[in-house]
Amino acid sequence: MAYILKKGSQYCYLNSDGRVCKTQNIRQAKHFTKEEATAVLKRATKKLAGYEMVDLDATPKEKVAIKVKRKNFSAEDRVMVYNQYEGRCGICGEFVPFDEFTIDHVIPLSKGGTNALKNLQCACKICNALKQDSLSEDFLSKLEEIILYQMKTNYDEALWKKINTIRRRRRMARIKQNCGRILKKSLQNRRIHATIAKS
Ligand SMILES: [Zn+2]
Repeated sequence: MAYILKKGSQYCYLNSDGRVCKTQNIRQAKHFTKEEATAVLKRATKKLAGYEMVDLDATPKEKVAIKVKRKNFSAEDRVMVYNQYEGRCGICGEFVPFDEFTIDHVIPLSKGGTNALKNLQCACKICNALKQDSLSEDFLSKLEEIILYQMKTNYDEALWKKINTIRRRRRMARIKQNCGRILKKSLQNRRIHATIAKS
């Protein structure tokens, strides 16, 4: 388990002499064990006033921020991503000329994504700018909301109602499906526990 000491966007590290220093660069933050972090906090009470211990295993976001850096993609990487999508934007499906395409992280780095090829998609500039660092499903559901709202206010309310009903049904079906899966799993677990208890 690793801990860092932080206060807002300030992090603690030890210089080559072992002196307590501060940095705004999370990648420079020192990874301590729990005991080390406690000792450092005690040793530099004044300097580290307001600093707190953050468990990196409990906060994946911090962990990811440290581990996965945004990459400057090489020409080779770009060709691979572009070819993987045959030059089409993975979000809107439109063809994008090679000198205009951007690389989008399907799962954003800030949400645990990596720079691996399978997490990269070809995206046109507009889609990439709109999606920013949201997850694909969140982005698509936001788009759906925008379109439906705009339809309701600017176009045909009757059509909007129809689509909204379908949408609601689809959502209910999804919830039911998920509940079914959870129920099945818990029944399975109960059966396993019962078998263990019997033996
Ligand atoms: Zn697009």
